[in-house]
Amino acid sequence: MTAVLQRSLSQRSPLALRGEGPMLVLADGRRIVDASGGAAVACIGHGDARVIQAMTHQAARLAYAHTGFFTSEPAEALAEKLVGHRPGGLSRALFVSSGSEAMEAALKLARQYFVERGEPGRVHAIARRQSYHGATLAALGVGGHRARRALYEALLPVHVSHVSPCFAFHHRRADEDDAAYVARLALELDAEFQRVGPHRVMAFCAETVVGATTGCVAAVPGYFAAMRAVCERYGALLILDEVMCGLGRTGVPHAWEADGVAPDIQTIGKGLGGGYQPIGAVLVGERVVHALWRGSAAFSHGQTYQAHPVACAAALAVQTIVEAEGLIARSRDLGERLQTNLRAALSEHPHVADVRGRGLFVGVEFLADRAARCPFAASDGVAERVKNAALDAGVGVYPGSGTIDGVVGDHVLIAPPFNVPESLVDEIADKFAKAVASAFERVSA
Ligand code: PMP
Repeated sequence: MTAVLQRSLSQRSPLALRGEGPMLVLADGRRIVDASGGAAVACIGHGDARVIQAMTHQAARLAYAHTGFFTSEPAEALAEKLVGHRPGGLSRALFVSSGSEAMEAALKLARQYFVERGEPGRVHAIARRQSYHGATLAALGVGGHRARRALYEALLPVHVSHVSPCFAFHHRRADEDDAAYVARLALELDAEFQRVGPHRVMAFCAETVVGATTGCVAAVPGYFAAMRAVCERYGALLILDEVMCGLGRTGVPHAWEADGVAPDIQTIGKGLGGGYQPIGAVLVGERVVHALWRGSAAFSHGQTYQAHPVACAAALAVQTIVEAEGLIARSRDLGERLQTNLRAALSEHPHVADVRGRGLFVGVEFLADRAARCPFAASDGVAERVKNAALDAGVGVYPGSGTIDGVVGDHVLIAPPFNVPESLVDEIADKFAKAVASAFERVSA
């Protein structure tokens, strides 16, 4: 018996007792490599004494002060670390407690930006299919993850529509090169602005590198520049969701740096606190900040635990370690090693369709028929089976649901901590390849 709701609904979750660097120790004595860092959360591994010390120190000094009346030392220092050097013109940070909350706040900021500018008719967000932006209602509403939306459709905001994602592996036509594919997607976005009414659109939202829905899918070169150009044409904001792919996960500080296009508003989460505390943030560009200053000089978004001092202290310690130990370059280099190993071990497998990603943000996609690009039925539960086989082999990976839009296959994410030892990267690839073989033996059986 369990009183924890999620476990009472699905009795399968084992009890995790301890975290030790890249490992998780379970109550039944097993030691598992946390090869997905949860869902790309644990970027420096578990149990780091420096982070624990920073949290303990802050809890003793000041655990809580309401942000309506006070700021705190760790919140100020963390904001300075993240936006003090104004990456891509992002110059202010708002701290919340999760990625979903960061997306909610990002949408409200976009809305307020236009109200302050005297354009209150701008209420609509255009986002992309095959995307995930969080579990709360507005975040779920801009997301395009059909399975996660389905039950709650009636509750989701109405001023949202979706265009195609940029996913060359599945959606670029045989006769298209990158430029032609980008031009087609830009035309589609432009047509969506026209359909909705350009003066009703406040923002275009996208994950810079898509995580949970389709598994580490980066855009083709030129895509974000073209989408930004469409937004500029109609005066709309660009919101990039880097909750999963940000802060070094893809081998660069912000994933958008690889695409050369900075957003007006950016969300981050997961790797910000590295799992030590629940914390997410919205990074806000000058254009939006200035509109707030000139307007009501307030952002009406008070949440009791925003900028929680202990969470900010934990995130500050995590980000200081990432910087001091050169872990972003390590994520880039080890990511290449992991992809190379996985390709070598899996490229002959008939159901492994693609190994992709950037940095230590790696996706492996499975198809029933590789040549025909035909997915397994969702009822085959392939991603879940691979996850379970990997867990049996001692490696934790993160599964993604299958048969998205009837085209995209099942996938798993592999996203170990940036400071994982090289030998463990090789072990992850090796054990994972064996787990894939055994999972498909079970599927055929
Ligand atoms: N955006 C993206 C891209 C995510 O991957 C997630 C979480 N998987 C979220 C938003 C929501 O974050 P949280 O679960 O912390 O609310």
